[in-house]
Amino acid sequence: MVKQVQNVKRNTFENLEAPDYVWKSGKFIPWDKATFHISMLGWSSINMVFEGIRAYYNENDDQVYVLHLNEHLNRLTESMKMMRMHPYIETEKLKEVILELIRKNKYKADTYIMPLAYFGDGPPGFLPSGDRLGDMAITVKPIDSLLTSDNTLNVGVSSWRRISDDVMPPRIKSIANYQNGRYAAEEARINGYDQSLILNSKGKVAESTYTCVFMIKNKTLITPSVTSGILDSITRKSIIEISKNELGLNVEERDVDRTEFYVSDESFICGTGGEVQFIGKIDGYTIGKGTPGIISKEIQTLYHNLVRGLDHRYHHWRTPTY
Ligand code: PMP
Repeated sequence: MVKQVQNVKRNTFENLEAPDYVWKSGKFIPWDKATFHISMLGWSSINMVFEGIRAYYNENDDQVYVLHLNEHLNRLTESMKMMRMHPYIETEKLKEVILELIRKNKYKADTYIMPLAYFGDGPPGFLPSGDRLGDMAITVKPIDSLLTSDNTLNVGVSSWRRISDDVMPPRIKSIANYQNGRYAAEEARINGYDQSLILNSKGKVAESTYTCVFMIKNKTLITPSVTSGILDSITRKSIIEISKNELGLNVEERDVDRTEFYVSDESFICGTGGEVQFIGKIDGYTIGKGTPGIISKEIQTLYHNLVRGLDHRYHHWRTPTY
């Protein structure tokens, strides 16, 4: 029996349904058996790196398409290199393991895939202990997509600054880096905002919480550059690609002031988990009419059709699971 889980309502990552199997240290193992000893708590995740990957279920094709699998695994390899961690398995093999894990869990649903790479033993994580083999675990869980939603976010500029390349390199997708986004997310929650806009050490816009940001002014798509304190986002790259090639938009990657966002015609956030979500307000300033902008909606729809394979172009974005 294949699990048809796409209609079950789940709104938060915490609410996600547990899979039957995960993969750890070379083996597929049942969820309940995937445990660590209490002594692993603490320093074990200080140098942990990971990826967040989405797969989309296409009902017509009865297929689960993993989005940008190669790009995510390349970024994971680069994160491991920066951690001086030798990969537990080769990328090609890892690709196979991820697809097999989705099949083993019989998922025919939108799915979130999270490979984690870490030093599983040896000296405490705060000691220099790299240039050795890392261990690896992978979890998968069903997740809802927001790509047909017209919800608009109420965003506030955070008082926290984004980490920078000379302190905690944001290019590395490491668990430790997420404390920065969490401070901003907590501040947003306390102040009644849905999300925050985080400035970098120069006071220019970097990104939102766990997502990159775009604004549109006079039909030009503008986003902070990859050296402005952002994670080098795969979704951001895809949005730039389709906006240029399919929608004919001019794209500028550069330093962006917060006030440019205040007076933008449209703005939105994007990411693998965050997908494409519209911004309605920033610091109380209404963006456009406060509703989804026409160009942003076009981008969201095109992105959705491509990632789910409803639009058959850009087939290199999608790796079929079955
Ligand atoms: N910034 C941060 C801090 C993130 O965690 C993410 C999500 N991975 C993004 C940006 C968006 O990156 P991507 O499009 O590759 O998911």
